[in-house]
Parts: sequence; structure tokens; C-alpha cells
Amino acid sequence: MIIDDIVRILKRETKTFTPLMTDQIIAEYGRDPFLILISCLLSLRAKDLTTIHVCRALFKKVQTPKQLLALPRAELEKIVYKTGFYKTKARVLQSVSKDLLERFKGKVPETREELLSIKGVGIKTANLVLSAAFDTPAICVDTHVHRISNRLGLVVAKNAEKSEVALQKVLPKKYWSSWNRLLVLWGQNICVPVSPKCSQCAIKSLCKRVGVTKSR
Ligand code: SF4
Repeated sequence: MIIDDIVRILKRETKTFTPLMTDQIIAEYGRDPFLILISCLLSLRAKDLTTIHVCRALFKKVQTPKQLLALPRAELEKIVYKTGFYKTKARVLQSVSKDLLERFKGKVPETREELLSIKGVGIKTANLVLSAAFDTPAICVDTHVHRISNRLGLVVAKNAEKSEVALQKVLPKKYWSSWNRLLVLWGQNICVPVSPKCSQCAIKSLCKRVGVTKSR
């Protein structure tokens, strides 16, 4: 099956790539749902490298919702400044922490519905937390996953939400959680947004290259 081949090849080819931010967080702090959630929120519209540095600085000071809520807002803003949108992110981190304490006894909930009921947590973050923290099959569709799944010809979808629904129909569940990691790494290194590196792509023979007009 074409998807088995794509996954097998991408697993082999991405082994030497720099790990994604979430994998680095897990390697350094273990599979802590709260730290994974916070790192996902900080990574929105920020580069992995910046986010990981900011996470390390933040997790030196706080590692629980209670501790994060107790941190003075100005100090939190200063720590998360480099990830951009620092005022909004600081506010969201504290409101999420408050919500976790008030409604979930300080624990990150394990269902998509409960995660999405927390203000500031969107579908992408919820799916990433489900798969990375709880090993629950979930397809986190970000810009890379949306773009490459469409280029491959696996789905025909106009936006990330529609891609997720379409992917749920074609991807075997066993690949739901790893699909994000593989395609993000591929999207950062080979199947880049503008002029993808098709000539050096290991899955070229499996790709329909939908919408690709210019490549290297
Ligand atoms: S062949 Fe080109 S468009 Fe298809 S996955 Fe590879 S880099 Fe992307």
C-alpha cells in the first residue's frame, strides 16, 4: 500500500534530521502532558529552535499549572518574549493554567472535547497533545501536513481542518500520530513550501505532485 511505503521511507530518511521541538521536550522532560501543552502553545507561529530555548528557560522556573499561575505576568512575558506575540501567549498560558486548576484538578485532560473546551487550545494543539502526551491516535494537521498530504494526492482539501477529516479516511489509525512528525520534518527539509526539492525526494515515485509548478 502506498501509505505504508511513504511512512517506511520517511521514517528511514528523517532519522538524521534535527528532532522536532515536541520530541526534544519529551527527551528532556519526559512525557509530561502539561509541559507538552505549554510548549505547543508557545510554538504557535514561532520557530522550533526559539521555542525550545524559551521552554528551557520557563521550565527552569515553573513546571506545574499552579507554579505558572503564580509567576508574575511581567516576568512571564519577559521569558516568552522571543516566541513572539508574548503578551497574548503569557495571558493564554496563565488562563490555561487557571482553567486546568479550576476544572481539571490541575491535570491536562485526555480527551479532544475537554482539551478544546479550554480557551486558547485549538484543534492543532489538542491533537498534538493527544498524540504526544497520551499516545492517543490523532492527526495534527499544520501547514506542512496540509501542504504535503495534498501534494502527494492523498487528499484534496482546501484547509487544514478539511485535510484532517480527509486524512482520517485514508490514513490507517496506526499512522495518525506519526504522520505529523514525518511530514513536518519532510516539509522543513525537502518538501518546502516554495520550490520543493523534488529531484532529491525519496518519495517522488509515490507523489502525484499536485499543484507543484516549480521545483528543484
Ligand atoms: S516529490 Fe516533490 S512535491 Fe512530492 S513530496 Fe517530494 S518534494 Fe514534495
